[in-house]
Amino acid sequence: MNYPEPITRLIEAFRRLPGVGPRSAARMTWHVLNGSYDDAVEMARAVVGVHKNITRCTACGNYTDTASNPCPICADPERDAATICVVESAEDVLALERAGGYRGVYHVLGGTFNPASGKGAAAIRSGELVQRAKNGPVNEIIIATNPSIEGEATALYLAEILEPLGLQITRPAHGIPMGADLEFLDGDTIARAMSARRRMENK
Ligand SMILES: [Zn+2]
Repeated sequence: MNYPEPITRLIEAFRRLPGVGPRSAARMTWHVLNGSYDDAVEMARAVVGVHKNITRCTACGNYTDTASNPCPICADPERDAATICVVESAEDVLALERAGGYRGVYHVLGGTFNPASGKGAAAIRSGELVQRAKNGPVNEIIIATNPSIEGEATALYLAEILEPLGLQITRPAHGIPMGADLEFLDGDTIARAMSARRRMENK
């Protein structure tokens, strides 16, 4: 017997979430169905709400409430706007903020530079980064892309396009294992890597 269409539809929707297989998706669907109508409405509103009420910060590209754009970090006068830490994703900003200690601002690329899979310069907001660096005053750009093959390629690409501006370009050094994802590292490791950052070689 086939499920009624609304049930199949919700199972399919849950299955599109990362790490959710058919059995979990079905379990979640039963849970929603057996729960209250109000809980279902609240869940649906929360899902739509992240799209309706969250936007990219016009300055750094981090996620922010539509009511506070630029985001609280960019708008904070206590943060050092002359130091920009470049990261791949909004989750990386959270990881760095949790680690504490960093008082500069961020630039969220939204991915890695990988022209082979259609992720060219435009896809990673690198033009915006160069523009920010030019509009300055900016002293240092810390390229904290993940130490993966794509992250390293992105760092090299950014160092190359930023080089003519004559800024200090650094990269977090020790403690971050190759292939690791910033998002999943503990705060101490991130903080150590940030303070041990090295100037990138410009050939
Ligand atoms: Zn911002």
